[in-house]
Amino acid sequence: MGSGFKCFCDKCGYSFDAMFGIGMMGFMVREKETKKMRAGKYGEQGKRFFMEHPDGSVTTNYVVVKCTSCGEFHNVYDFDLQIPEPKMEKSKQNLKEALDRGDPEACKLPKEHVERILNRTYYVTKEKYEHKCKKCGGKAEIVENFENLVQAGKIDCPRCENRLSTSDYILWD
Ligand SMILES: [Zn+2]
Ligand SMILES: [Zn+2]
Repeated sequence: MGSGFKCFCDKCGYSFDAMFGIGMMGFMVREKETKKMRAGKYGEQGKRFFMEHPDGSVTTNYVVVKCTSCGEFHNVYDFDLQIPEPKMEKSKQNLKEALDRGDPEACKLPKEHVERILNRTYYVTKEKYEHKCKKCGGKAEIVENFENLVQAGKIDCPRCENRLSTSDYILWD
């Protein structure tokens, strides 16, 4: 379950909807976005990453990024570029090979246990995605803890000096 709300400036009218967390269908979103990243829809960095790591994946947790040139906020996926944990993959490979050559120890393991190990992949972050501003193309950086900061009235409006307010809590899955 994720959550979100409207962020707005009551002085100049600037506003945007921000969502946080990851939906119930998170694994499907992850699969879809991994395909798009692989196809180069999010730029050269992602395309290159998947050429180097064909078994890679991307994270799809919602974050807010702030442009370092124009100051604009964007609610986007964090897109950590990940690879299957190498040691884990090595052990899976060893187990597969042991089973293939009929190793007595490996063959003694319960079937469900073996399947659980072989079907499970742990991903670790290899590279951070370099976010770009959708408005001006400038470098955009993740604002850590934005959800709490904006609710505590600690985020400035990018258009004027005012602090941003929040309202209309939305829950989504
Ligand atoms: Zn403002
Ligand atoms: Zn910008």
